[in-house]
Amino acid sequence: CGVFGVIGLTDAANFVALGLHALQHRGQEAGGIVAHDPEQGFNSARRFGYVRDNFTKQSLMETLPGPLSIGHVRYSTAGSKGAVIRDVQPFFGEFSMGGAAIAHNGNITNAEELRRELIERGSIFQSSSDSECIIHLMARSLQKHAAERLEDALRRVEGAFSVVAMTRTKLIGVRDPLGVRPLVLGRLGDGWVLSSETCALDIIGAEFEREIEPGEMVVITDKGVESRHPFRPQKSRFCIFEHVYFSRPDSIIGGRSVYETRRQIGVELARENPVDADLVCPVPDSGTPAAIGFSQESGIPYAMGIIRNQYMGRTFIEPTEQIRNMGVRLKLNVNRALIRGKRVILVDDSVVRGTTSRKIKDMILDAGAKEVHFRIASPPTAWPCFYGVDTPQREKLLAANMSEDEMCDYLGVDSLRFISLDGLYRAVGEAQGRDPASPAYCDACFSGEYPVAPRDMLAKGFEL
Ligand code: 5GP
Ligand code: SF4
Ligand code: MG
Repeated sequence: CGVFGVIGLTDAANFVALGLHALQHRGQEAGGIVAHDPEQGFNSARRFGYVRDNFTKQSLMETLPGPLSIGHVRYSTAGSKGAVIRDVQPFFGEFSMGGAAIAHNGNITNAEELRRELIERGSIFQSSSDSECIIHLMARSLQKHAAERLEDALRRVEGAFSVVAMTRTKLIGVRDPLGVRPLVLGRLGDGWVLSSETCALDIIGAEFEREIEPGEMVVITDKGVESRHPFRPQKSRFCIFEHVYFSRPDSIIGGRSVYETRRQIGVELARENPVDADLVCPVPDSGTPAAIGFSQESGIPYAMGIIRNQYMGRTFIEPTEQIRNMGVRLKLNVNRALIRGKRVILVDDSVVRGTTSRKIKDMILDAGAKEVHFRIASPPTAWPCFYGVDTPQREKLLAANMSEDEMCDYLGVDSLRFISLDGLYRAVGEAQGRDPASPAYCDACFSGEYPVAPRDMLAKGFEL
């Protein structure tokens, strides 16, 4: 998901709509905006579909006045899949000291346990979303003010959370102690901005101030930014897959351009797994920067062997299998004239279920390619993510059930190679590779080492 918030700018919701548009790649199912105006109080709008189709209508934006606003774009990783408007964030709660709204990116690993406890004690849930727990925990807190209530609530929550919240007078941003999901602070004139990624600061012309630190809470009012540290400090474990796939390539993370990191992944991949061929082609768009790096390092020409229809969204994000299957053909087509008779290296970011790679291989061979070699910009995805990226159950993950050779046979390609975990760490800037005693990132979907125990899943019988 993507979160965005603004304080101190006239008609803040308009800036939030633009920010959410730039974060659309983080969630395409639905979006929502809450705004507060001193005269009109809180207003909210939640809609299915793209930001540009909903939050550009003047008639809707006029209902969201005020200098304080937050928003969310949704990609369901917990709760029900599909169309339930009650699950669309931000969530809103009315407490004794006034209302508060929250937008959450990540996934709470003890949400089901918390939900059971809260329901037993009388909370009435409106949605199936894990994030709603936060509002109910805030309601139960004995603290007077919303920021302190939010601190109380988040101290009970486990897992990954980057939260943007607002009250009548405050914009609040928090990251979990491991800092699994991103959150940055920006500045525009007299106003302040919180965003999942820097690319959404660019769109409104805001200046990047800094990242919110893992475990940090910022409380922003008209007096400025106050920083707090409500949690026990821990070594940070940012999601390495944000670098590989999830974030936009024009964002900056940890002082590094995501594009440059991905290009470097391609360089490492070419060093680790060279192969003689005529062309290096990305599976667009997610494989593009790595393919550029692969081509530069190997000296094999880069070419657009697969063309992407720009009017399709991210396939993986489609919640049902059927739509995902269709999706590959609707989205990608082979540039036949270029491919015929060629030995082709295809570079993609990841193999999850194998649906994409299989279809693409068929299309490439059908177009007359002589050889097809897959090079993948992440290690085999053998474990599900419980921290906010929607990887399927283990049974559906190709790499959980097959060796690399078996996957190669299953996909029907001439060769299939993945970047090593060490190679990936080098590409994100860890010169020594992965420190097994204390890894610098979360890499659980590749290593099976979960930095936060997935409590709800373990209770349901998931085996580590
Ligand atoms: P597969 O078809 O193997 O199930 O999925 C691989 C494709 O989905 C890749 O092209 C990649 O760009 C995309 N993808 C891989 N992992 C993820 C993920 O966790 N989230 C999203 N949104 N897309 C992914
Ligand atoms: Fe990111 Fe993978 Fe960790 Fe999930 S399991 S947070 S996708 S590195
Ligand atoms: Mg892709």
